[in-house]
Amino acid sequence: MMSTLEAWQIEKAFGRTHALRGLSATIEPGEVVAITGPSGSGKSTLLHCLSGIMRPETGEVYYAGQRVDTLDEAARTRLRREHFGIVFQFGRLVPELTAAENVALPLLFDRHGREEAMTVARAWLEEAGAIEVADARPLELSGGQLQRVAVARALVTAPKIIFADEPTGALDSVAGERVLSLLLAAARLNNATVVIVTHDNQVAAYADREIVLRDGVTTGVPA
Ligand code: ADP
Ligand code: ADP
Repeated sequence: MMSTLEAWQIEKAFGRTHALRGLSATIEPGEVVAITGPSGSGKSTLLHCLSGIMRPETGEVYYAGQRVDTLDEAARTRLRREHFGIVFQFGRLVPELTAAENVALPLLFDRHGREEAMTVARAWLEEAGAIEVADARPLELSGGQLQRVAVARALVTAPKIIFADEPTGALDSVAGERVLSLLLAAARLNNATVVIVTHDNQVAAYADREIVLRDGVTTGVPA
């Protein structure tokens, strides 16, 4: 079983918009998977359902053999904190905190002491090539720096699975490639699974496999 991720016949609607219409997918431990497809095809919704941010209305989601979609909010939050790292587009860092404090945050939630958390955070910022902005706040950072910090924050707990939603979407191709290489290298260090939502072909080319969505279901054929 290990850290296999499975969605079985999941459906999710927002009002009359059917974002996912009976989608099934299995992602094996250590796989690097790109979720691709046109805008509005359900990529982000799938990522949110797989990572326990959202619950599908029907169908089932499993992580390591454990049913995820029936867990309550608190249990899903705990699962995310303990096993998952999530990178959002535009980083979504806490604006009041420095880069290093942002990276340390998941460790503090995990009951690590502040000093230890800050030391580990700085080590990950170093790894991410963003140590020079450790004491800067998000508003002072460029898009590429923000995403490097966001990647460091997602990796600091050594997650089994890294979810990334358009991690390079706000970046030029050079900065995007650097962020992506960092994400994949770090994932490999931990033998982590990587699930990336992207409409960027450059990103999809790095993946072991592509899950192509069309109108809320998978299509066999890459775009
Ligand atoms: P993608 O990531 O492929 O662009 P999304 O999963 O974001 O697609 O969205 C799929 C569909 O569901 C779109 O039509 C989108 O507008 C709609 N949608 C997504 N989230 C919401 C929401 N919170 N409220 C209403 N509609 C939503
Ligand atoms: P992403 O770039 O990750 O697809 P979006 O910018 O599409 O994210 O959406 C940001 C937030 O707004 C998400 O929580 C998403 O669920 C929600 N959302 C997306 N589409 C709609 C919509 N049509 N109506 C309301 N909320 C939406």
